[in-house]
Amino acid sequence: MTTRLGVCGWPVAHSRSPQMHNAALARLGLADWRYQRLPLPPELFEESVRALPALGFRGVNVTIPHKQAALALADAATDSARAIGAANTLTFERDGSIHADNTDATGFLTSLPGSVHGRSALVLGAGGSARAVIYALLQAGATSVDVWNRTPERARELAAELGATAAVEPADADVIVNCTSVGLHDPRATFRDLPLCPEQLAAGRVVVDLVYRRGGTELLRAARAHGAATVDGLEILVGQGAASLERWTGRSVPDAAMRAAVAD
Ligand code: NAP
Repeated sequence: MTTRLGVCGWPVAHSRSPQMHNAALARLGLADWRYQRLPLPPELFEESVRALPALGFRGVNVTIPHKQAALALADAATDSARAIGAANTLTFERDGSIHADNTDATGFLTSLPGSVHGRSALVLGAGGSARAVIYALLQAGATSVDVWNRTPERARELAAELGATAAVEPADADVIVNCTSVGLHDPRATFRDLPLCPEQLAAGRVVVDLVYRRGGTELLRAARAHGAATVDGLEILVGQGAASLERWTGRSVPDAAMRAAVAD
């Protein structure tokens, strides 16, 4: 019987995870494993997920808007998923239980060019991805994590919950992470809607953009032009996907194959 994996979301048609995971499964020689999209509206999420093991599913990734519901339905969860308050990876264990993990945090850390220990960080955004990034930065020993958000109350709440600091007019930082959707569609929005200027993205800084788009983002283009090290959102997608696939297969995953599969 085929062993199935997938990504649950609503909508999920845009997801690059199937091409990325199927490339890795082929490279691992797991010819009878398949990874597919699972479009699930919120009202059908829990009952659909509970039906998946009987259909041959070993696990699923979970994306917007289901990450909190995924954690809530699990029988067991990693400390990181509980601390973040959301899960992006569910594993259907042989004893019938469902295990939740959050590989967004590890995927983010493995994509960075070096350690953040002892470095200051600025996180832009207070949505789902910011949760995992703030948690990861604090766990990895960042000296300070400032959180800025367009809607300041959300930054205050999230910072208080995770032990970071809300910033209305953020100071400069060694590591700058864009966890907003700014730059996804309109490059002109980047330095209009975010509290950044291109000149601050200088040598010695690391600039991470969770957003990825064909041709790259304006934020990373400007950061490279001013000498900062950059991390593309596709690297984070690959990092979290590789960690999930390792959990399901128990194998070390060829992330180069995953990277090639999602590159334009
Ligand atoms: P989310 O929970 O919907 O949060 C969206 C965030 O963007 C909020 O903080 C929101 O601020 C902010 N925002 C939206 N429009 C804005 C604007 N015009 N100006 C300033 N801030 C604005 O989304 P998410 O899940 O965190 O995802 C954020 C982005 O990261 C998306 O583009 C997503 O595709 C990408 N992402 C990438 C990966 C990856 O693997 N590379 C993983 C997850 C997400 P308010 O609170 O004020 O609305």
